[in-house]
Amino acid sequence: MKIAVLSGKGGAGKTMVAVNLAAAAKRAVYIDCDVEEPNGRLFWKPAEVRRTQVGVAVPEFDPALCTGCRRCVDFCRFNALVYIRETPRVFPEVCHSCGGCALVCPNGAVREKSRPIGVLEQGRSGDVTVITGELSPGEASGVPLIREALRADTGSSLTVIDCPPGSACPVMESAEAADYCILVAEPTAFGLHNVKMVHELAVILGKPCGVIINKQEKAYEPLELFCRENGLEILARIGYDAEFARLIARGEILYHADRRAAALFDGVLKRAGGGRE
Ligand code: SF4
Ligand code: SF4
Repeated sequence: MKIAVLSGKGGAGKTMVAVNLAAAAKRAVYIDCDVEEPNGRLFWKPAEVRRTQVGVAVPEFDPALCTGCRRCVDFCRFNALVYIRETPRVFPEVCHSCGGCALVCPNGAVREKSRPIGVLEQGRSGDVTVITGELSPGEASGVPLIREALRADTGSSLTVIDCPPGSACPVMESAEAADYCILVAEPTAFGLHNVKMVHELAVILGKPCGVIINKQEKAYEPLELFCRENGLEILARIGYDAEFARLIARGEILYHADRRAAALFDGVLKRAGGGRE
């Protein structure tokens, strides 16, 4: 089973939930798709880490074969090509690696070369395989790296996908393969707005989902109403807890360090359908 953990904004507790869910499963794969800020490994502290560079294909032009017809420039819908000084030139950050320019070139003057965009890390923490995508600073899109991270899934009874925050393309890419989505929400007006965004995404993807309300002091009725109206099960409510905060600040996994947290995430896993027999 694959569970994606989403939240409409950073800081809602998404990584904390994803890490503890994988810890509750004991044997699991944890994939950090939050490639701009992959923090899960701070908790897992994985060993035997292998790092591989991930790149995307960008065109390269052979001046000896290029006749200057400009078909490639006209074809590129992303405006990633310009024709300057008798040769096409590419803006690599704008290129979407569609390969179209190579296809339309009548002279075979376009080759592809790999441009590094980040690193994929794979290690182990006990019986959990920890896969982390780390996007290089300044890169515009983490989607190709997210695809590689998901492809690296070694397979287990449970895979937990820690999605990027928000509800844009990288989140869609991350959650698409999931069987179930957990939406992490804060009990505030802003939290409600954010959970609506990720819920809409889960509906578009056709995923069943449940909600974890984090940082709850008292129930926020509009959020409760939203969950009721949309048939969203509230899988857990996590209150402000000084001990939890101390453990998280020390980079410890709550499930391993606190019995109350262990019981809480055992319950979440069972309700989400990923519980052990
Ligand atoms: S690969 Fe596609 S996006 Fe990139 S330059 Fe060629 S046509 Fe444009
Ligand atoms: S399509 Fe091929 S030949 Fe024409 S300008 Fe582009 S690279 Fe040169």
